[in-house]
Amino acid sequence: MSRVELDLDPVTHLTADAIGQPGQRVFYLQGTQDERVVTLLVEKIQIQSLAEGLDDFLKEVFERFPDLSADSDAYDEAKMRILPPVDPLFRAGELGLGYDSDRDLVCLIAKEILSGEMEPDDASVVRFWATRSQMRAMTQWGLDVASHGRPICPQCGEPMDPAGHFCPKKNGHKH
Ligand SMILES: [Zn+2]
Repeated sequence: MSRVELDLDPVTHLTADAIGQPGQRVFYLQGTQDERVVTLLVEKIQIQSLAEGLDDFLKEVFERFPDLSADSDAYDEAKMRILPPVDPLFRAGELGLGYDSDRDLVCLIAKEILSGEMEPDDASVVRFWATRSQMRAMTQWGLDVASHGRPICPQCGEPMDPAGHFCPKKNGHKH
């Protein structure tokens, strides 16, 4: 794939979501700008650390710009589900945050993960420009999705596969 560099400036919508059976879910970041949809592959842990990183980041923004209005992490679940077609542009490696104080917009910078012979300059980049509340809603929803994992077995405390669970407390019998 040749290198791409895209700016969704600003996004009309931003979300993170997972698709697949519990235990085998694949996580995505998706930004929309009008008709344009950009989807990236991410790991669950990247969503979780992004949520933490955003908290710290916005704390610093508020220290520098104390007059900013409060932001909100409220989201409408019906709008947070990923939109088809799910055709990821690349798998994200590094995720970074920036802030444009003139426009009060947060920039989520997603760089393609390096593989094989790729040099850092070969990595594609997508920048999603979003309001503070859009970013908060995305990470809050992403955290909620990430925590909806497999149900826990009441016998052994291990996560249960929907296809069946071989419980060590029951000598490996399916239950
Ligand atoms: Zn069990």
